[in-house]
Amino acid sequence: MSVTHLGTGSRGNATLIDTEKKKILIDQGFSGKEIEKRLARMEITPNEIDAMVISHHHGDHGGGAKIMQKKWGTPIYCNLRTAGALGLDLVQSNIFDDFDLLEFDNSLSVLPIPVPHSGADNVCFVASHQKKRAAVITDLGSWTEEMVTHIKGCDHISVEANYDVNRLWNGPYPQTLKNRISGKGGHLSNDETGEFLTRVVDKETKSIVLTHLSEKNNLPHLAESTVLYHLDEVFQGDIAISMQDGPDFSHHIGQYEKETNPARGLVLRG
Ligand SMILES: [Zn+2]
Ligand SMILES: [Zn+2]
Repeated sequence: MSVTHLGTGSRGNATLIDTEKKKILIDQGFSGKEIEKRLARMEITPNEIDAMVISHHHGDHGGGAKIMQKKWGTPIYCNLRTAGALGLDLVQSNIFDDFDLLEFDNSLSVLPIPVPHSGADNVCFVASHQKKRAAVITDLGSWTEEMVTHIKGCDHISVEANYDVNRLWNGPYPQTLKNRISGKGGHLSNDETGEFLTRVVDKETKSIVLTHLSEKNNLPHLAESTVLYHLDEVFQGDIAISMQDGPDFSHHIGQYEKETNPARGLVLRG
């Protein structure tokens, strides 16, 4: 299984989960043209995408789902509130509840786990393939023990590190927005992400990607150094940052025979 971020941030998110048999997008927050362009950089056409699994209805995560369904007939999986807010036809959508295991074939499944995010029924996902697990987590103001239970020991963890506390408080946003971002239903700060990771990373965890960095309130080196400070010696694997422009590195998890494009870098075999 490989995990590739096609871009993460407040202007659009999409993450490709690729196995030998299936290609699944987690979130589709880009226009039709943009997702086509980003997939093309990986030599993939939108027709090859087997399904979109949408975390929540905010435009940067679900805003491009309907267009992709219409243009390329890509099946959508999401919860009821997300489907309603995106104006999806319920008959044509695959509606899941929290913790419904979505099985795409006999080797790839995706588990939706609820996360706290104001004004949305947001979920994060754990994709499982051949006993390896990859978590993709964004848009949460705090984390829950339930999340820890399900994400602990994942081979790969992509998680947002949205803002640096000092930059947010000293930055240009109005106070109400600062309060919302830093609240329990907003986004995770670099420190909160670091604290969360100390709870879920163990010796199985080979790679971490920090995602959804605020362009105003964060910097890649701050996110990385803060998280590594918290993780200390707990984590010996690779850490990377995904920004708004993608696709980034593909993170390969477990046995993966397919040739790796060296431009896409980092190959992990376990
Ligand atoms: Zn978002
Ligand atoms: Zn959101």
